[in-house]
Amino acid sequence: MRISLFRTLAVLLATLGLSDPCMAQDAPVAAATAAPAARAVPATLFQNVRVYDGKGTALSGPTNVLVRGNRIERISSASIAAGPGVTVIAGNGRTLMPGLIDAHWHTILVRPTPEQAIFGDVGFTNLLAGAEARATLMRGFTSVRDLGGPSFGLKQAIDTGVVEGPRIWPAGAMITVTSGHGDFRMPSELPRDASRPLSRMEQIGGSMVADSPDAVRQRVREQLMLGASQIKLTAGGGVSSPHSPLDVSAFTPEELKAAVDAATNWGTYVAVHAYTPAAVRRAIDAGVKVIEHAHLIDDATARYMAEKGVWLSTQPFLAEEAVPFPPDSSQYRKKQAVVAGTDVIYGFVRKYRLKTAWGTDILFSESQARRQGALLAAMTRWFTPAEALVMATSTNAELLALSGLRSPYEGKLGVVEEGALADLLLVDGNPLDNIKLVEDPARNFVVIMKDGTIYKNLIGAGK
Ligand SMILES: [Zn+2]
Repeated sequence: MRISLFRTLAVLLATLGLSDPCMAQDAPVAAATAAPAARAVPATLFQNVRVYDGKGTALSGPTNVLVRGNRIERISSASIAAGPGVTVIAGNGRTLMPGLIDAHWHTILVRPTPEQAIFGDVGFTNLLAGAEARATLMRGFTSVRDLGGPSFGLKQAIDTGVVEGPRIWPAGAMITVTSGHGDFRMPSELPRDASRPLSRMEQIGGSMVADSPDAVRQRVREQLMLGASQIKLTAGGGVSSPHSPLDVSAFTPEELKAAVDAATNWGTYVAVHAYTPAAVRRAIDAGVKVIEHAHLIDDATARYMAEKGVWLSTQPFLAEEAVPFPPDSSQYRKKQAVVAGTDVIYGFVRKYRLKTAWGTDILFSESQARRQGALLAAMTRWFTPAEALVMATSTNAELLALSGLRSPYEGKLGVVEEGALADLLLVDGNPLDNIKLVEDPARNFVVIMKDGTIYKNLIGAGK
């Protein structure tokens, strides 16, 4: 219903010469945000900042950075004339760095309880997600890679300025097998019968069950049609789902290959949720480009990932973090198993120099979401502050770029350089010396800019 409305609108706009009908989801956006031609492009000048560029190990000397529109136009140690209408921010030696990126996030599933997410009112779930999106941006996360959940509506609301939040790279529904991670059905809903409605999670686009190559292909293509920038399959068991033990493999090689073919045809890639050596190897052999988690792999599988140039998108699951499951539940026990794997996986990252993205995968806990930055600071148990910050900025941006032309936002992210998109944080201090600054964004991120727009400014303008 929603899609047919989009298509009708898109065709209408195309008829009027306003839009390309191929960009069905973007058509209403373009119409809603078109600015009058006479209006000047907004510009911001950050004066006297030290730049952390998202790649190196040191800050620059005193620097001035001019943002015009949504891009970084100029970076110079010489002074830059503000010109009329330019918002001037006096950096006073503070650090200007790229906006943070969380490579494994679930915009829709951060705040609700599992019960609310599955059975609750969809309107309430979306409003929770809108509130969380603003909180996420206010923690300095200007981009998130969404690895499962119906985030297309939220993304549209953010991109059109209805709601404040990060850029979203949506996967849409995670695709699973019967009994796999993401199959939240009750035993009473079995056996599946084509004459009955889809399960609740499938109806709301949270996950889709597919049990043959043809079914997988169809479900993948549906997500791509909705605007997915990458595809997520659950190749093995998971923590938060009721029916899948951690050790199992889910899809057959043919099913994985069907997903990879459909995604590749569409110019993007498949990422799989997988913890074990068997699930990881099978996915790699089917052409999967990104492994999510991998906390339970062995040395030989880590070496295989390195040889194949496969991305690892993993998370610091920490023993001290609260677990949103009762201690006597199977989900709680599974969580403990992957927590024990965190040390192991980061050891392999070092040993084999795996291409490694950083993310948090926070689910069903607003209070844990407040610790998103703390989970980045915790990376210094295994890495230097610079290595951790590189992961959460330029390396994560490299992973986002794997979506190619399916990336929803054109331009370079995760770096402070001329021509890059202006997603910037002004930090009161030097995070390379003290990465704990990212734990308290309310106090320490004094300016937050996304796409050239200032969303937070504690030091005022024009001083
Ligand atoms: Zn996840």
